[in-house]
Amino acid sequence: MTKLAICPGSFDPVTYGHLDIISRGAKVFDHVTVAVFNNQSKAPLFDVEERVALLKEVTKNLENVSIDSCGGLLMDYAEQQGAQAIIRGLRAVSDFEYEMQITSMNRKLNEQIETFFVMTNNQYSFLSSSIIKEVAKYQANISDLVPPVVEEALKKKYNQ
Ligand code: ADP
Repeated sequence: MTKLAICPGSFDPVTYGHLDIISRGAKVFDHVTVAVFNNQSKAPLFDVEERVALLKEVTKNLENVSIDSCGGLLMDYAEQQGAQAIIRGLRAVSDFEYEMQITSMNRKLNEQIETFFVMTNNQYSFLSSSIIKEVAKYQANISDLVPPVVEEALKKKYNQ
């Protein structure tokens, strides 16, 4: 049986922290689908299509990774796709409480699908899309935190 994992998130925009989690997941599972969620409670900088396009570009060398977008409940989507697992990244202790809450709820919704956590690489432990957007506004050097295509996309957004 093909082992499929879903890696869900906002990815607004994708960073090297996300890529680290995705590529490490792809070493363990037969296939990883990165699912871009349109979280209504966050006002995104990039629309879903832009986020998907950036993710496709930066994962094009990962053969067993594909990109999709989705609304609604993660567990409904995971079941429709026939996934066995969800992959999430853990950075600081501050991620823990939220992740524990959401994972417990997801398990209640579908206990057949397990959530696996990948501990961030130390160099990305303080990296988030929000902090990237915050500093990119002021033309800070972010070249070691996001892929070049994302850096370009951010420049375009903030120069508009
Ligand atoms: P969400 O809005 O669901 O938190 P994000 O796009 O912020 O989505 O993150 C998607 C996933 O990637 C989450 O599991 C998050 O913990 C993980 N992640 C984000 N940044 C990093 C990072 N720097 N290192 C490791 N994991 C990360």
